[in-house]
Amino acid sequence: MYSPGRQTHRQTRLKHYYPAYAGGTEKHNLIFFMAAVHAPFPTGLCRCLKCDNLCAWSADVRTVNNQHYIVVDSTLPGRIIVKPHPKPLSYDGWVKKEKIYCKQCGQDWGIKAIYKSVPCCVIKIISFVIVDPCEKRSWCKKWKSVNFPVAELSDQDMMDLVEFETERVSQINGEV
Ligand SMILES: [Zn+2]
Repeated sequence: MYSPGRQTHRQTRLKHYYPAYAGGTEKHNLIFFMAAVHAPFPTGLCRCLKCDNLCAWSADVRTVNNQHYIVVDSTLPGRIIVKPHPKPLSYDGWVKKEKIYCKQCGQDWGIKAIYKSVPCCVIKIISFVIVDPCEKRSWCKKWKSVNFPVAELSDQDMMDLVEFETERVSQINGEV
């Protein structure tokens, strides 16, 4: 039986052994696919529909009320371009002020938002192809159709997102 705690533990373990996996060398991806084949639940990679750039490992996707899907991965900013949202929105604890695009091809991936004061990236499933450990590729119109489990965003995830943003900002400031 799938449980978010188990997924988090597995994700931590994999990141410990293969910290560069999300950087996306093919060798690392292969290692992860091999690990994923033996995972206790289905897994996959969300790749850009247009250029195949890696967006997220399925274990890093979380949902808020099965309406918003967030990536909890400190390496995501390296794979995206952020631009102002043409029509900024604020509602139900969400502030959506920016859009995110694939760094390689410019495909619209979703929105950079603030949720309950926490910065996060909300991705839309139609912009991606899901690649399973056997290299089977599938395109889903709706998140509820994906073949991997998606855990609800937890307090720990929120803390991780804050930490990622703090690290990101301090890196930027350090470079100036
Ligand atoms: Zn792309």
